[in-house]
Amino acid sequence: MRRNRRVKIVATLGPVSTNEEMMRALFTAGADVFRINMSHATPEGLREAHTIIRKLEVEFSRPIGILADLQGPKLRIGKLESGAIKLTEGDVVSFVRREAIGGLGRMHLPHPEIFEAVRQGHTLLLDDGKLKLRVVDASDVRIDAEVVTGGMLASRKGISLPDTVLPFGAMTDKDRVDLEQALQVGVDWIALSFVQRADDIAEARKLVRGRAAIMAKIEKPAALTQLKEIIQLADGIMVARGDLGVEMPVEKVPGLQKQITRAARNAGKPVVVATQMLESMIFAPVPTRAEVSDVATAVFEGADAVMLSAESAVGKFPVEAVATMDRVAMEVERDPLYGAIIHAQRIQAEATGADAISAAARTVAETLNLAAIICYTASGATSLRAARERPSQPILALTPIPATGRRLAVVWGLHCVLTGDPKDLDDMVAKACRIAQQEGFATPGQRVIISAGVPLGTPGATNMLRIAFVGDEGPEEL
Ligand code: PGA
Ligand code: MN
Repeated sequence: MRRNRRVKIVATLGPVSTNEEMMRALFTAGADVFRINMSHATPEGLREAHTIIRKLEVEFSRPIGILADLQGPKLRIGKLESGAIKLTEGDVVSFVRREAIGGLGRMHLPHPEIFEAVRQGHTLLLDDGKLKLRVVDASDVRIDAEVVTGGMLASRKGISLPDTVLPFGAMTDKDRVDLEQALQVGVDWIALSFVQRADDIAEARKLVRGRAAIMAKIEKPAALTQLKEIIQLADGIMVARGDLGVEMPVEKVPGLQKQITRAARNAGKPVVVATQMLESMIFAPVPTRAEVSDVATAVFEGADAVMLSAESAVGKFPVEAVATMDRVAMEVERDPLYGAIIHAQRIQAEATGADAISAAARTVAETLNLAAIICYTASGATSLRAARERPSQPILALTPIPATGRRLAVVWGLHCVLTGDPKDLDDMVAKACRIAQQEGFATPGQRVIISAGVPLGTPGATNMLRIAFVGDEGPEEL
């Protein structure tokens, strides 16, 4: 079973979709990676999803990625006496550190870190940015802020501070518990929410200890100032447009999406474009034209994956949403302009053996119109560089390591196949050709190009390219 597109689809699981029948339907419709939102998932739900996904992998003989998305330091105001209050433009209200039930003009803010970091002139956004306040006076115990955009404010609503770098990492106590649970269950990716600095990734990496790959969600202005360093330390990036559009003016989000996508592609790290891509499909079986255009834009930008959140987690049409993304992606990638746009954004190879080989493999494959590029990869690093080239030909990544195949499920253009290490060079060629044929990427008489490291089994030593005819490799030797 193969997909007929390069861009991947991440589908978030939730109450409507965490069951075997629905997950099989989502996978069949096109989901390459399942995302579990740890803000809502229970330990049982996580385990159940994992069990079903691993079962589907066997059923379809395809590696499937699991992404556990940690909640991160989501900040909230305290309780309000009346449940909700009205804030009017021009009013000055106070946030206090001391625990108390808030009322008119005074609210409890149960996060001491905010009092330490906030300064006069900083912006406070409440309830996903619906209300906006400006700090007029700040001390260790009290913050006075003037209401700039008013409205009703309910208890425990979210607060964000786009101008303030907060003195804590991207992981809360809850995140640490969730992280350990997710790693024990056996997820492939961990997503970190509200990353502010590169150190946040380093901190998480110490806890993860190689058991999963790390995706940094870019949704804070502070992260944008350290984008390059964050990308360097992370294994993947998410353009988390939901919170990004709260912390930054929404009109900046499209440009930032392009900037983040390019920077991640440049580094050869997978980048996922997320949130509200097909929002109206939570309630309707067809998307708006604007949403279709939004998905298409991400595909034209060469993003590695597009993501569904509520659409597949709580929506009425989860399968239709995945199928819509699948159709839009295939159509965009068939568009005559697609190749030219991707080509125009192509990134210079770095001065390494792996990049030189990857660039050469693409050139040979395109010049000779070969059926596929096939790379043997252990850690996945070689196939990431092959994908970074964004070649016109499909890429098959052959790996003996299940975890590698699963992590690569989110990467543009990679069709991963689990297979044992070849025993010699002839076997390597025969195996590659046989798999290309079996998986539907080549027919007898077509040629493929194979990259590998020789001697076989030496990590990080991709140094060989071989053009081979498909169809004469004979039966598999046991
Ligand atoms: P969330 O992250 O859905 O976990 O908030 C994505 C986003 O903010 O866009
Ligand atoms: Mn978010």
